[in-house]
Amino acid sequence: MNGQLLIGGQWVAGASSEALKDKYSGDVYGQMAVASAEQVTAAVSGAIEGQRQSTLSPYQRFQILSRAARLLEGRIEPLIELMRHEAGFTRADGDNEVRRCMQTLELSAEEAKRLNGDMAPLQAGDGVKNRFGFTIRAPRGVVCAITPFNSPLNVLAHKVGPALAGGNAVVVKPSEFTPLTAIELCKVLIEAGLPANLLALLHGEGAVVGPQLLADQRIAFYAFTGSTRVGRQIQAAAGLRRTQLELGSIASTIVCHDANMDLAIPKILSAGLRKAGQVCTSVQRLYVDRRIVDAFVPKLVDAARKMKAGDPADPATIIGPMISLHHAERAQGWVDAAVAAGAKLLTGGKREGSVMQPTVLTDVRDDMKVVCEEIFAPVVSVVPFDGIAEAVAKANNQSFGLAVGLFTSNLHTAFKAARELRFGGVHINEASSARVDAMPFGGVKDSGFGWEGPAYAIREMTEERLVTVAY
Ligand code: NAD
Repeated sequence: MNGQLLIGGQWVAGASSEALKDKYSGDVYGQMAVASAEQVTAAVSGAIEGQRQSTLSPYQRFQILSRAARLLEGRIEPLIELMRHEAGFTRADGDNEVRRCMQTLELSAEEAKRLNGDMAPLQAGDGVKNRFGFTIRAPRGVVCAITPFNSPLNVLAHKVGPALAGGNAVVVKPSEFTPLTAIELCKVLIEAGLPANLLALLHGEGAVVGPQLLADQRIAFYAFTGSTRVGRQIQAAAGLRRTQLELGSIASTIVCHDANMDLAIPKILSAGLRKAGQVCTSVQRLYVDRRIVDAFVPKLVDAARKMKAGDPADPATIIGPMISLHHAERAQGWVDAAVAAGAKLLTGGKREGSVMQPTVLTDVRDDMKVVCEEIFAPVVSVVPFDGIAEAVAKANNQSFGLAVGLFTSNLHTAFKAARELRFGGVHINEASSARVDAMPFGGVKDSGFGWEGPAYAIREMTEERLVTVAY
């Protein structure tokens, strides 16, 4: 497959191209079209013009987005296949990604019909008579969506869906690891009736294309998901322009002594290991009450050992390759360093190429990278605790704050901890990655700010303005 760029409503070739390699076999499966500086400028100009000319009503935006969701239904199989090459996804990972994307587009479609403001309380002013006021919502203009490799379809839908529903044009810059999946989403939107000049698609290295997009003052809003390092650069460049930053994370899950283990273990393993642990809410730190550690950990490790890592085309595989050999070598290096410094390997710890075995560690220390930096790999560290206060303090002891899970059957423990855990999402009797696309999703501290979830994102991607009337 040859990649293309979408500029001014036209599919065009890049200024150069780069071979794309399958994440498991290393075979070339396509080419990425790389945008030149002139093409980046032209893409933003085209989106501005497209937004200016657009006559789409909110109801038409609803129709287009919901039609796109339905069209995806017929593309599930080719998309699973493409994401196997691009992202190393297993069939289950790919299927989940497409179905969630369909839901995100449907939710976004609904929001186009709900775009409204609030009555403003003018009557509350002393002596105010015969006046009323209300707010309206208007598009911001051009939204720039910059997205990561680990959710090549659904994270893109979480940016593009609410942005289009709100009446904006969107310039998309997907991860250079997964460019062709983004093309498919853009094609579906156009086939569903979106005027092609409301969307632009640029490919290239983030460090080259990104800074040019950040410097372009015509862009009104940056919707970004990715690392905290790049998020900081975006915020620095944005100035007074608005941003939505969904950044890095070290997600934790806490298992109390009164937890239902049979419920907790499959959820924790799925959350820690699926997509090869490359999920921003993957369980990285697992806090287990010391009273149940001896019963809990062998069950967890047994179940982890049964999770097959390897070729994502093999239906038995649960853990596919990581996004690159470099990423896998880094994760392996952190595990090796932890073990050399006294951590105990309960299972895994080995790697074949970019496939990392499901890995469970214990006897870790807070200063080990497997604990204090985001690993983004199928590696879970078990840390025993004495009392919920200690677990909460340990989970909070980090600069990130995206999501945390807590298993307990005690309501008091659950609600008290929910107030004290400083994360954007606290999930009781779920692991940290328990996401539903309709819910507000975002971080605190170095995990960024701004909600994803179409009903919430559309508020950020539109401008609220006040109108008052005297009569
Ligand atoms: P990344 O930050 O390396 O890249 C993300 C995107 O930014 C890519 O499209 C990349 O090309 C682009 N980019 C790179 N340099 C840039 C620059 N200087 N200017 C503008 N854009 C630039 O992230 P990644 O490795 O693709 O994804 C993994 C990270 O994403 C992890 O930290 C993970 O936690 C985070 N993530 C967060 C969430 C969330 O919702 N909080 C969800 C998924 C992933």
